[in-house]
Amino acid sequence: MALQSKILDRAKSEARTALTEVESKELVKQAGIPIIETKLARSKKEAISLSKEIGFPVVLKINSPDIVHKSDSGGVRLGLASATQVGNAYREIMSSTKQKYPKAIIHGVSVQKMAPPGIEVIIGMSKDPQFGPVIMFGLGGVMVEVLKDVSLRIVPVTQKDAQEMIKEIKGYPLLEGYRGQEPASIPALEELIVNVSQFAEQNPQVKELDLNPIFAYKDKAIAVDARIILEE
Ligand code: ADP
Ligand code: MG
Repeated sequence: MALQSKILDRAKSEARTALTEVESKELVKQAGIPIIETKLARSKKEAISLSKEIGFPVVLKINSPDIVHKSDSGGVRLGLASATQVGNAYREIMSSTKQKYPKAIIHGVSVQKMAPPGIEVIIGMSKDPQFGPVIMFGLGGVMVEVLKDVSLRIVPVTQKDAQEMIKEIKGYPLLEGYRGQEPASIPALEELIVNVSQFAEQNPQVKELDLNPIFAYKDKAIAVDARIILEE
């Protein structure tokens, strides 16, 4: 596909394996993986006009192949409700990331819709030297970082495998709706896992994929962050 090869060619010509959030989202979106609407702004003015186009509230994030953890460097601003807030956030993101990463190549700032609160889950793909691509599923944030509450399957992952993966994490009751909280759509998560498995099969040049987090709702699930690392 034209756009896909454009993204891959650019990374290759710049001798980098890390794709930005905007590039990563574009690639997975083409594979039918649901992604929050995201656009790249190259100036403050463009950030404001794209915000108006997308509709407030929006989120702004630093878009750089050299910055892996965007929020660690003051590179993520959530819930921006007006043009003034977007303009200020743009300036602040640029100054704090340039201070922390003076050598980083910055493509601009991603502008995206602020997703309503949902249950945060993550789906990842990495390559095992013996088994090849492996898909990981877990709950987002503390659950995966501290508790390592994840399930793993080797690609290809069928819908039945995906169903098992979801049910076997310890945090599964949270997905069923805990103490009056809305449940997450299990079918939507199964479909996403199968989709990521197919993406891994069809794109051997992708070394790692992280959808972290995905917001799960009672009727759908949508990724708000994506990160791809290509093979050398
Ligand atoms: P990074 O992982 O690089 O630090 P993220 O893009 O994951 O940055 O953003 C950090 C956190 O901000 C996410 O874990 C999520 O909780 C929240 N977030 C990111 N994008 C959105 C969005 N579009 N809508 C709502 N919340 C978001
Ligand atoms: Mg993230």
